[in-house]
Amino acid sequence: MKKVVILGAGTAGTIMANKLAKMLDRKEWEIEVLDRNNIHYYQPGFLFIPFGIYSPKDVVKKKDAFIPRNVKFTVADILSIDAEENVVNLVGGEAIRYDILIVATGTVPTPSETPGLVGERWYKNIFDFYTFEGAVALHDYLKDFRGGKLVMTITELPYKCPIAPLEFVFLADAFFAKKGIRDKVEIIYTTPMSGAFTKPVATKMLSSVLEEKNITVVTDFYVEGVDEEKNIIRSYDGREVEFDGLVVVPVNLGEEFLASSGLVDDMNYVQVDKGTMQSVHKPNVFAIGDAANLPTSKAGSVAHFAADVLAENIVEYANGKAPSHQFDGHANCFIETGHGKGTLIDFDYTNEPLPGMYPLPGIGPMKLLGVTRLNHWGKLAFKLIYWEFLLKNRRLPVSSKFSLAGKKKV
Ligand SMILES: Cc1cc2nc3c(=O)[nH]c(=O)nc-3n(C[C@H](O)[C@H](O)[C@H](O)COP(=O)(O)OP(=O)(O)OC[C@H]3O[C@@H](n4cnc5c(N)ncnc54)[C@H](O)[C@@H]3O)c2cc1C
Repeated sequence: MKKVVILGAGTAGTIMANKLAKMLDRKEWEIEVLDRNNIHYYQPGFLFIPFGIYSPKDVVKKKDAFIPRNVKFTVADILSIDAEENVVNLVGGEAIRYDILIVATGTVPTPSETPGLVGERWYKNIFDFYTFEGAVALHDYLKDFRGGKLVMTITELPYKCPIAPLEFVFLADAFFAKKGIRDKVEIIYTTPMSGAFTKPVATKMLSSVLEEKNITVVTDFYVEGVDEEKNIIRSYDGREVEFDGLVVVPVNLGEEFLASSGLVDDMNYVQVDKGTMQSVHKPNVFAIGDAANLPTSKAGSVAHFAADVLAENIVEYANGKAPSHQFDGHANCFIETGHGKGTLIDFDYTNEPLPGMYPLPGIGPMKLLGVTRLNHWGKLAFKLIYWEFLLKNRRLPVSSKFSLAGKKKV
């Protein structure tokens, strides 16, 4: 038997296992998925935990419940990849041989990369919400927050789900308003980008939402370090922002074990062709999801759309053909704006988010770059869609290919 090994049973690895279990010739190919644990977190739900909208149990299920029965699931810590020998080495000494390797090990929030961030004040008045533990600790902090400067800071690019920190400040505004203390809280948003988002049309729209909510934006702010004694964050160009409470998107890096593989860039992201997702170094290695160096957002929606393309390419490669299917970088995301409303963006490698209707051109019902109640319900419904449809590779009424139909050029 020949073997496909998938590293990581998060969003991307699980979708790929479900697709390939049906698409590969199973008389010829076996499939094994490796992950260090059996806990699947619904990461978009981490956003809601600090505000008590979701409880911790809302975002956790077992990974093996989503892996098809005819796919082997092994809980093991991956130590290294020997891409010359086609072998994955596990902590504990076991080696797993592969014919085709799919790397789907995601990205790791790494607060230790920022001087002063992880010290005495970590999880006292300095938090992340990109981990389960961080989101839960932040909930305990925010429920007793009585006023002062709450700073949301993005340390460095790229980071997964680029809109999550914006959603955080929108929800913080609504949370403090509901508590009747909004006038006692100054909300500050610092970003290394030169605006609220990377692309001009969405930046303009999101900037007006930030202004409306009286959230101060500090741009071009790359965090050099944190002075936890003085409660100050400092940028590389010497600017300082004071805080009472600090919420951080830490530096995001690809998994450490990939560093020695000869397959990655200097941030440990697997270097792939942005269309086929095949490694630029080894033809039998592919990467998907946050682990890949694709020039689009690191997001679950991207993993979902990319999986349609990658599965076709893996089947072609398994049959001795060159991968021919091209991923267009399609990404979309609901953005919570607070007070029961939200907006939606849809874009790809070449087209920026534009206003319009989605998924049906002219009909919607979702409004792109509009703030509506329906978009908020879409965001909440996404949890059920994620567990019941997306991971299990059940059909959804959205195309994995980006389309300009129904969108207005501005
Ligand atoms: C706060 C927050 C909000 C978000 N909101 C959204 C949203 O609204 N919409 C959206 O589309 N996306 C959102 N995302 C992003 C989305 O969750 C990720 O992009 C998606 O989960 C990436 O999937 P992945 O499979 O690449 O990585 P992951 O799902 O992170 O999976 C990686 C897997 O690899 C395993 N692994 C890693 N290293 C090893 C090792 N050495 N040995 C064994 N196993 C290993 C891990 O255990 C993990 O299970 C959000 C993320 C966060 C943190």
